[in-house]
Amino acid sequence: PFHKSKGQHILKNPLLVDSIVQKSGIKSTDIILEIGPGTGNLTKKLLEAGKSVIAVELDPRMVLELQRRFQGTPFSSRLKVIQGDVLKCDLPYFDICVANIPYQISSPLTFKLLAHRPLFRCAVIMFQREFAMRLVAQPGDSLYCRLSVNTQLLSRVNHLLKVGRNNFRPPPKVDSSVVRIEPRKPLPPVNFKEWDGLVRICFNRKNKTLGALFRQKTVLNMLEKNYKTLQALQLTPEDFSADAEMAVCVSALGDTLGDMNMDKDEDEDDDEDEEMEIDDKDAKSNAFKEKVLSVLKLGGFEDKRSSKLAQADFMHLLSLFNKAGIHFS
Ligand code: SAM
Repeated sequence: PFHKSKGQHILKNPLLVDSIVQKSGIKSTDIILEIGPGTGNLTKKLLEAGKSVIAVELDPRMVLELQRRFQGTPFSSRLKVIQGDVLKCDLPYFDICVANIPYQISSPLTFKLLAHRPLFRCAVIMFQREFAMRLVAQPGDSLYCRLSVNTQLLSRVNHLLKVGRNNFRPPPKVDSSVVRIEPRKPLPPVNFKEWDGLVRICFNRKNKTLGALFRQKTVLNMLEKNYKTLQALQLTPEDFSADAEMAVCVSALGDTLGDMNMDKDEDEDDDEDEEMEIDDKDAKSNAFKEKVLSVLKLGGFEDKRSSKLAQADFMHLLSLFNKAGIHFS
């Protein structure tokens, strides 16, 4: 009866459900968003803890089962079920999101939530263990990646609970973790498109030095093209202000990160060495390359590796580049 393709793994351990609800810190006045309620084991306890639950469920059979379960109970007036794909529907106002989600939508869902306005208090979500560890990874951790940096720019993330696969029916192939995501208010003053443009280059090979990454022809060409376009358009720093299309950029990010966001790591084949050499013939491009490298040197970044850089370092680097008129979007 359960659809693997829809990530239908039902929580069967009531103590675990209690623990998730308790750790969520739900208030009796809270409007709760649940994604993928399934048969409603979590939904029931959310209804007991909060004011109302809005549950978004893709599978019409599950929607029916859910409605049947609460029909004629005092809960039914406080539960609203929306049938549809959570990634495609407009989310209503909510105070807190608590969910055991299908893992294939982890990335896009996370950034859809972080792009949602007005901002909610927090989201407590079950993820695949590795995805969860990537979300909370710190500089120097082996799973530290573009997903970590971007999520942590927009929110505070905490690991709450390890959950073994046998708490689900049917058990998934991987273990899980519950993570708490609390949006930052206010957001750090960066233009998110610029930020992700930089971070994307830096984590393309997170164990290469930034000096090597920024010597790549493809990177230099892209930056030089931006540089020329901006000069031609005479854009000013205000055109890169922090809030420019923030929400649009953030929600688009989830798609570019993919489901599990497997960043290329050092152990991966590196057949792009050819790309690392630059074409020295073009004197103009060479001058631009020197400009880029001088920014790296100015901040002492040339020999640094992204795997060890913190959010503040990326912010600093971005501001140095922007001051030099070099942009990533
Ligand atoms: N919350 C239930 C529990 O803990 O027992 C079920 C969780 S199960 C991991 C995920 C649920 O999300 C399934 O009921 C599935 O039908 C639903 N689902 C899958 N893709 C979805 C989507 N794109 N939007 C909304 N719900 C989805």
